[in-house]
Amino acid sequence: MTVTPFEDASIPLLTRISEADPDFADLLARLRFCPKDGRIWLDDQRMLLLHQSALAGLRHELVQSLGRPAARGLLTRMGYASGSKDAQMSKRLRQGDPVAGFLAGPQLHALEGIVRVETIRAEVDLEAGHHYGEFLWHSSSEVDAHFAAFGISDEPVCWMQIGYATGYTSVYMGRPILYREVECRGTGAPHCRIIGKPVHEWDDPAPDMVYFQPDALPRLVEREHGVQTFQPDDGSERPGGLVGISSGFTAAHQLVRKVAATNATVLFLGETGVGKEMFARTLHALSPRAEQPFIAINCAAIPDTLVESELFGVERGAFTGAVQSRPGKFERAHGGTIFLDEIGTLNMAAQGKLLRVLQEREVEPVGGTAARRVDVRVVAATNVDLRRAVQKGQFREDLFFRLNVFPVRIPPLRERKEDIPLLVRHFLAKYAARHGQTVSSLTHRALDHLLDYGYPGNVRELENIIERAVILTPENGAPLDVAHLFVQGDEVNAPFFGLDANGQLTDSSQAEALPATPGMVEQILGSELPLDTLEAMIIEAAVRQADGNLAEAARKLGLTRAQLAYRYRKAGGEEER
Ligand code: ZN
Repeated sequence: MTVTPFEDASIPLLTRISEADPDFADLLARLRFCPKDGRIWLDDQRMLLLHQSALAGLRHELVQSLGRPAARGLLTRMGYASGSKDAQMSKRLRQGDPVAGFLAGPQLHALEGIVRVETIRAEVDLEAGHHYGEFLWHSSSEVDAHFAAFGISDEPVCWMQIGYATGYTSVYMGRPILYREVECRGTGAPHCRIIGKPVHEWDDPAPDMVYFQPDALPRLVEREHGVQTFQPDDGSERPGGLVGISSGFTAAHQLVRKVAATNATVLFLGETGVGKEMFARTLHALSPRAEQPFIAINCAAIPDTLVESELFGVERGAFTGAVQSRPGKFERAHGGTIFLDEIGTLNMAAQGKLLRVLQEREVEPVGGTAARRVDVRVVAATNVDLRRAVQKGQFREDLFFRLNVFPVRIPPLRERKEDIPLLVRHFLAKYAARHGQTVSSLTHRALDHLLDYGYPGNVRELENIIERAVILTPENGAPLDVAHLFVQGDEVNAPFFGLDANGQLTDSSQAEALPATPGMVEQILGSELPLDTLEAMIIEAAVRQADGNLAEAARKLGLTRAQLAYRYRKAGGEEER
């Protein structure tokens, strides 16, 4: 945890607490699953494990039947009630440390599976009644629910969560605090951002406060009645072979659907392998130009000296060897769409000509004197920061502004893990057909590993993993296991917590190796050892028990030898055999 300097040293201030905050343990220890009783407890509160999709369905019906404002009011107050209960628990569990006590709230919100919270700023002074909080919300469950029902929204949608933040902080501080969502992923922003301070410090709290008042409900219902209609998007119609249900994917897809009918230039942003060309093809397929050509070029794959003639054509006699005129890609895309991948690698001369195409709608072939009119929609993609390239003088600013009319960011796969099961199924079917294999299924462990993995190469890497696994499919028709998927010691991390037969919480990285004894997990948590250290200790113990035989130690831990060797090296062990 880093603490940044602040003008008033008497106000405890901290920033950016990582999710590995060790204080989590005291909260986790208050969570009890009692399946024989039919109860789950968080400290003294009975909790429910609900299906996200069921709650999303309820939200959908509330909006449809009561209208958006009334539904928002109900959910906001539901969140407020949860937040206020959690605040009572935090005060009890973390007496004596007001900031740590306050920050139990964001941690509980994450523990309850609602949202991952990143602290930007948290100022808590109970005596003076001072509070200022700024947090980022990642993977908001409410955004996912809203997207599933209604797609992208023109206003923030994390109503229950804002209710929680407001209720939690108001009870914790003992005075009315209002949290407001100033950015929301539900509107297409990369994440949600919330800011909270005492109600009287806001200039115009009234529009938000109305949602906390139960007696405002009839008014809200009336205001809404018959005004709005919604178009549910079940994601079933997806031309172009795009696969995904995550909110990040849905947001990008909705933007593409919205812009497809126009002639606007579209710029796809995202890491290598996220599927920018697939999105471009989808855009074309949804556009009025669908029957016309779609021409894709990877600008980085054409030698610098040939870029201009490739794109804009060449006139006979332009240079030695140009014995006849040849049309460029732009002319071949006439009437349709041209997709310029890795646009950031274009040289300055080609950038100038491209700008001319965008401005004048005409191309000038190399060595030519007369420009030719073309009707081409330009779609570009980049994995570099073009703004920075402009600052460095590597990219024309005027061209950047022409291209950046309608940017669409495609999130990396690690930010949209909900898509992984769908993609896995899609690629399994595709490669089973291509390689003539019969693939029955994946083991649970294999799916867990696929969900945990970080995918630096994004969808393309997942596709490669699945293709490799299909080729390695066991002849006996046994399901694909971890060893078929991860063969080079790829690191799989991100621990998660499960439940063993005794109702004890277990950690995924140890669950298969160690039969949990009652109290064991509490003991481990009580030791306050970092997870890395615990993992290193377990791995060392397994290697020691196996007399240094890594293959045998790996079997004990349910890992492949390569995976164990990787972790063992990371933990500081010397690999022997
Ligand atoms: Zn939000």
